[in-house]
Amino acid sequence: MSKPAFFLQECGTCGRNLRIRVEYLGKRVVCQHCKSHFRAADGGGRGDSPVKVESVILKRADQLLAAADEMRQRPR
Ligand SMILES: [Zn+2]
Repeated sequence: MSKPAFFLQECGTCGRNLRIRVEYLGKRVVCQHCKSHFRAADGGGRGDSPVKVESVILKRADQLLAAADEMRQRPR
C-alpha cells in the first residue's frame, strides 16, 4: 500500500503547509502551528472531494423521495 494517508494543505492563517490525514477531509481541523481552525479540503482538484460525493448522494436521495411520493399519490 503506497497510497499516502494524508495530504498537504496550506494553513489559511499562518501559511504553513500542514499534513492532514485524508480521513479529516471535509472536517474541521486545527493547525499545529497557530492553532487556528479550518476545514480540511484537498485542493488538488482531482474532482473526488467528499463535498461532491455528498451532493451526489443528496441528489439521489431527492430522486428516491420524489419517486416514493409519486407512488404514494398514485391511486390503486
Ligand atoms: Zn496555521
